[in-house]
Parts: sequence; C-alpha cells; structure tokens
Amino acid sequence: MRRRRKRKSSYKVILALGFVFVGFCLLGAFALSKAFLSEDKTAEKTTISSSTASTSTSTVQSEEKAEEVSWQKQDEPVRIPILMYHAIHDMDPSEAASANLIVSPSVFETHIKRLKEEGYYFLSPEEAYKALTENSLPSQKVVWLTFDDGNEDFYTQAYPILKKYGAKATNNVITSFVENGNAANLTLEQMQEMKQNGMSFQAHTVTHPDLSVQTPERQSSEMTGSKSFLDSNLSQDTIALAYPSGRYNDTTLQTAGQSYKLAVTTNEGLAEYSDGLLSLDRVRVLPSMTADDLLASMRAS
Ligand SMILES: [Zn+2]
Repeated sequence: MRRRRKRKSSYKVILALGFVFVGFCLLGAFALSKAFLSEDKTAEKTTISSSTASTSTSTVQSEEKAEEVSWQKQDEPVRIPILMYHAIHDMDPSEAASANLIVSPSVFETHIKRLKEEGYYFLSPEEAYKALTENSLPSQKVVWLTFDDGNEDFYTQAYPILKKYGAKATNNVITSFVENGNAANLTLEQMQEMKQNGMSFQAHTVTHPDLSVQTPERQSSEMTGSKSFLDSNLSQDTIALAYPSGRYNDTTLQTAGQSYKLAVTTNEGLAEYSDGLLSLDRVRVLPSMTADDLLASMRAS
C-alpha cells in the first residue's frame, strides 16, 4: 500500500513536472517569436536608412534621428523663421561695400550656439515643405538656416560651427560658379562631403541675374539649368530656389512652380503657407545682430 501510494504520488510529481515543462516550452516559443518579430522590425528600419543613405555613418545616424522625430499637427497656421545669411568670415576693409552680407564666424557661432541652447530644431528644405504644406511641426521651435551664393567660406567657416552644434543648414548655390570652378565658391566635392553631414544644397539660378527683368525663356533656362545641375551632380531632387537678390515678377513665380516646390525671397518676415510657397519671406541676419537680436527678430517678424 505504502509503495503504491508512493508510486501514485511520484506519478503526480512527474505529471506536475510535465505541465511545468510544457509551460516553459510555450513561454519560450512566445519569447522567441517576439524576438524574431522585433528583429524583423529592426531589419526593416536598417533597410530603410541604408537604402536612402550613403556610406557615411553620420548620415545614417542623422537619418535615424530624423525618423524618431514626431510631427504634431498645429492648430494655428505654421510660421517658420527662414534665416538668410550670405558670407561667414572676418570682413576685409576692401569688402566694406558688401558689409551687410558678411557675418563674422565668432558672431555666427553665438547665433548657432544660442539656437541650440534654446532647443530649436533645424529644418531641411524637405522638412520645411512638410511643415508648411501639412501645417505640422517636429518641435514647437523650428528654424531653417539658409545661405545664399555658395561662398567657399560656407565650407571653411560655417560648416565646422554647424557641425559642432549638430545644426542643419541649406546653401543656395549659383551653379555656373561651381561648374566654372570659381575660387571663391564651393566645389562639388565640398558640397558632396557636407551633404553627408546634414547640409543641403538648393538652387540660386545658373548665373544670378535679376530674374524680374529677364525674358520668360531666360528665366526658365536659369531655373531649369540650376536644378538639373544639382539634381545630377548631387543625386537629389532639388526642391527649393532662392531668387537672386530677391527679385521676381509674375512670370518668375509661374516658371519657378514648374521646377521647384519652394522658393524664398528677401522679403522680411516669417514664412507661412498663405504667402505662397514660391514667395516665402525670410529673416535677414545682419552682422551686428547679437543672439538676443536674432531671437527677437525671429519672433517679431
Ligand atoms: Zn545671391
């Protein structure tokens, strides 16, 4: 009897152990399937970033960061400060005539440092387009840094500072200057390198004429020529144009719309959808502006 009972109870123990074993197996299978699922997701994410990005690790990182940004629809119409810089270097006395276009590197650094400290998000042209057309923002504080003319000091002076603070910026390039290898302008190699680190290059026409006084044909060739140069040499879809000296007429607006999604002027103000995507206001940055002045102009205009 005692033996039998013992046997019976050992059967029970075996049975219980069996249940526990099956339980563990089920749990294990569940955990494994979850792990595989999340691995799939990671793989998918990696595929996305590697298919759009190049060999540079920093590009992949910044793209992954961009993916994490969550955009919020806004109740009020979105208004974006598009800052307009030209040259960044210490002015030579011989350049006095264009003094207003030259910001010293030390002043420029105070601007970028402050924007970063204040928590501003630096928009790319594509993000600016998304913000304006979808009335949506990746952050309550956004800014689009633009530079006109493709000066070489964008590479030698501005770029190291922008990189230091993790800021993205756009340079609007005069493409014939690049093509002709003008010493004072950016080269394709410099642009390609900077593009790997978050900088964008958009159009500023082929030869920088006053578009408002050109024939429709000339306006068109200035705009399509600069776009195709940038598209093919930087392997991109160039979406934005800056009008030389901010000059344009009705023909300019119509023609710009055939090649570009956005165009910026030199009219003072914050950019908003209701102003028209092809005549966006900008905030002119003067060499005398302190970081405080800059922030005030971004709010007030
Ligand atoms: Zn210009």
